[in-house]
Amino acid sequence: MNLLEKLDSAAAARKALLPDGIGAFGIPIEEVYSATEARIGNRRVLLLGTNNYLGLTFAPECIQAAHEAIDKEGTGTTGSRMANGSYYGHRALEKEFAEFYRCSSGIVFTTGYQANLGTISGLVGPGDTVLIDGDSHASIYDGCVLSGADIIRFKHNDMVDMEKRLRRLDDRTETTLVIAEGIYSMLGDQAPLAEIVRLKKAYNCILLLDEAHSLGVLGETGQGLVEQTDLLEEVDFITGTFSKSLCSIGGFCVSNHPQLEQLRYVSHPYIFTASPSPATIASTRAALQLLRTGSHLRKQLWSNCTQLYAQLNEAGYQLGPDPGPVIAAVVDTPQQALLLWQKLLEHNIYVNLILPPAAPEGKSLVRCSVNAAHTAEQIKYVGETFSKLYSLVNG
Ligand code: PMP
Repeated sequence: MNLLEKLDSAAAARKALLPDGIGAFGIPIEEVYSATEARIGNRRVLLLGTNNYLGLTFAPECIQAAHEAIDKEGTGTTGSRMANGSYYGHRALEKEFAEFYRCSSGIVFTTGYQANLGTISGLVGPGDTVLIDGDSHASIYDGCVLSGADIIRFKHNDMVDMEKRLRRLDDRTETTLVIAEGIYSMLGDQAPLAEIVRLKKAYNCILLLDEAHSLGVLGETGQGLVEQTDLLEEVDFITGTFSKSLCSIGGFCVSNHPQLEQLRYVSHPYIFTASPSPATIASTRAALQLLRTGSHLRKQLWSNCTQLYAQLNEAGYQLGPDPGPVIAAVVDTPQQALLLWQKLLEHNIYVNLILPPAAPEGKSLVRCSVNAAHTAEQIKYVGETFSKLYSLVNG
């Protein structure tokens, strides 16, 4: 098979799963009305498939900050952080992240994906080891591949398996980077951070925690799992993204290790790409302030999460182990997932469809994400619709 034929065969496999005309992936959102409603085709839909956890996409403070930055600094930096792309705002945001996490330094990247790529490939290299959770996000896998380090996976959230692999590494643990996520994006479950910290200390490794989905969601001030578990001081590097609770695009890494600064000189995903636009940085700075003081938003978010989790659970759906802003109904086959996804859309509810190999353990997922802007009535309607569709999908 030549290169183009290989793509044809992958396309045929996808078409066999998803008949023509069903654009479950990359479906165009024609108009956005608010943090919870949009138009898809000719339907006004409820958005239950975004990562807008605090519901801040239309926060006036963020919109105004972005407008002012465009007026003052233009639409883009047209260059990388290493060259002409480090404006006052990029540095200010780095300081604000460092201060938020009580760390000595912070680095801003152009996306959350690049934050993981840049941090991992800057920290480890050929001859080193990365020990990662089996359900890690693609940006973590790709960062590990880019680094050239040996990649070892432990079973998702399985601490016995993690320790077994650490034991086998023997004296190589000293050059091992352990990576986990605050909240996992497929099933919405949390890492057993206390146990991971215990092991990383016992085996003398370095620990990186990706708080992409937990920033703004967990902890009194929204730092994430580190705050909820009171383990901030024990994690060596924290990465995260601006594209979820902070409602823009970009990523960061913070640490108390002074060596973080060296990443600016070795990390290709930091050096060889243009920096975030002034408007992006300005709206992120405004959103970070709202996130830090947003305990009322977190309260509303958690009330919505627990309501929907309870309704889906009661309806009989198999769910992830923890209620949270990511709530996934796990079904056995892609056909079941597709049917549920389509029927929800017919009821004007937009959710995410996740098929193998993206979904864990060969299962398929219909994943909802809940946000602080959803009303109790909207959540109730979504729960009731899932309930109504249960026997159709599982019958
Ligand atoms: N880490 C995790 C755990 C993620 O889920 C994502 C995005 N879904 C990223 C990193 C990458 O972030 P971004 O989309 O902002 O590049």
